[in-house]
Amino acid sequence: MTAASPESQPFQAEVAELLNLMVHSVYSETDIFLRELISNASDACDKLRYEAISAPGLIADGAPPDIRIVPNKAANTLAVVDSGIGMDRQELIDNLGTIARSGTKSFLSRLTEARDGANLIGQFGVGFYAAFMVAERIVVTSRRAGSAEVFVWSSSGGSGFEIAAGSTADAARVARGTEIVLHLKKDAAKYLESHEIERIVRAWSDNIQFPILLVPEEGEPRQINSASALWQRPKSELAGEDYKEAYRQIAGAFDEPAMTLHYRAEGRQSYAVLLFAPSQKPFDLFDQARKGKVKLYVRRVFIADDAELLPAYLRFIRGVIDSEDLPLNISREMLQNNPQLAQIRKAVTGRVIAELESLGDKEPEAFAKIWDAFGPVIKEGIWEDFERREKLLALSRFTTTAGEKRSLKQYVEDLKPNQTEIYYLTGDSVERLKSNPKLESAAARGIEVLLLTDPVDAFWTSAPLDFGGKPLKSLSQGDIDFALIPLLDEKADVAKDEAGADAATTIALIKDALGDRVSDVRASQRLTSSASCLVAGGGAHDRMLERLLAMQNKGPTTRPVLEINLRHPLVAAIAGSKETAADLSLLLLEQAQILDGELPEDPAAFASRLNALVLRGVAGG
Ligand code: ADP
Ligand code: MG
Repeated sequence: MTAASPESQPFQAEVAELLNLMVHSVYSETDIFLRELISNASDACDKLRYEAISAPGLIADGAPPDIRIVPNKAANTLAVVDSGIGMDRQELIDNLGTIARSGTKSFLSRLTEARDGANLIGQFGVGFYAAFMVAERIVVTSRRAGSAEVFVWSSSGGSGFEIAAGSTADAARVARGTEIVLHLKKDAAKYLESHEIERIVRAWSDNIQFPILLVPEEGEPRQINSASALWQRPKSELAGEDYKEAYRQIAGAFDEPAMTLHYRAEGRQSYAVLLFAPSQKPFDLFDQARKGKVKLYVRRVFIADDAELLPAYLRFIRGVIDSEDLPLNISREMLQNNPQLAQIRKAVTGRVIAELESLGDKEPEAFAKIWDAFGPVIKEGIWEDFERREKLLALSRFTTTAGEKRSLKQYVEDLKPNQTEIYYLTGDSVERLKSNPKLESAAARGIEVLLLTDPVDAFWTSAPLDFGGKPLKSLSQGDIDFALIPLLDEKADVAKDEAGADAATTIALIKDALGDRVSDVRASQRLTSSASCLVAGGGAHDRMLERLLAMQNKGPTTRPVLEINLRHPLVAAIAGSKETAADLSLLLLEQAQILDGELPEDPAAFASRLNALVLRGVAGG
């Protein structure tokens, strides 16, 4: 084989930017480069084993794939070698020159701004490129399993890499798989020490299923990981530390698991389950393309990590499900419609939810971590998973006018006399919601109100819901009737009998002034001290959902109902003066919009109207 002259290629812009960050090491935990390379090597061995199910010739030599770590002090190089699937020329170019993950751009800009780059990198996982933290030059020699050709990828970071056909020596050395040689930076020489390598492997990669062999410069290679499929071991043999390590290795994470679920199902089907809920939110949690990352194994052979083993609203759960019954050669299409897998999915989903529920009861602090990070995702399930709606509502925790992290169970226990509904208000922030006039009448009765501020809240609340037989009801939609619920301060009720504005005349005047800006004007049950508020009609979308849909240009917008407080002096003044009735009416509408966090349709007209009214008041007073 004669090596053709190498060809230079540029890195994708995101890669160049990432490398720049790595080299100027925003990140002090350089050790993780080894974990990343071993994790890739392990993935490559997994893929080989999977492909060999239908093409046994790929491992005709019969040798099970392994991973070797080879330090060389004289050359100042560290090699990570695997006998996995390998890469052909195009794969080397595509995989080691680009980042396919979506959301990379926004991640990079956050990384440049943030001080805690370390944490963010942990969430992202920089993968192969982490090696440039410790290496000034990297040479990757690879042979795709079954191929006659070997290719060499090399780069010193910077803006690009070179790709060339391998020499005869390369071909002799790399029979199958990938050899990654790191030419270490001066300050990275410690990674040539056996004890350092062993320490890192034990900390980060002990549970890798393939043997990791340390090949010392003198003496025999020896295995330095335990290479057990931890999920197959009995719970009684395992301690918290073991699980933590397994979580970090399986999920490629740095945080601690907030929940661990390990069990074996026996019966119609047998399978082992080891699942974790992280305690930290990954950077791309809301990415549309984000899939769950529960890995499917069949009798300890990795099959797929995109088999959608859990519903989308549990996509934050990491871990492994290892089936004893599925066929090893199960194809991707079969994964979609396999009834056995559907059974597993259903059973495991139920188990995860039950486990979350019991964590919520027994370890509220651990549960709070999960809820803080993933609550908005779990709430998607209230909308999507009709069957488990009640259970998911029971799991949910809310900020309410009575406090934080309140469950609906607590809410229902604290219902006021004659209260038959669970009230909520959706909006942008708790602070803003707390000053929303729609809460006034509820507050006067001590009625607790859920303050919902996640974008997803506008969606799931649009389904007809109840909890414990109590329907959920928006305070900004339809009619509200608090008449049977007593006021906290009975004396405040006197106001009821005071002469207010003449309802019919006032409402007619306002309707006249507002025309088709609103669908109706009516006296409010919600308000006690504010003059007005806007609510959705009984059949219409709630106001917040309407706004979100309008932003995405989805669906027609409906006109709101203006509710007025007939006891408010501003409202009372409307019937008193023909000259100002129209301006005051518009002002009632515009105020209500502002209190909902919206802008008046014509802010300039609003300002001049307000000024005119104030001046008139000043002049008149
Ligand atoms: P990730 O592992 O998250 O996909 P990496 O940056 O670690 O990202 O690796 C990029 C890609 O390069 C991998 O997805 C894989 O396709 C390929 N790759 C890296 N190392 C190896 C290897 N040792 N053998 C085969 N393919 C590899
Ligand atoms: Mg990787």
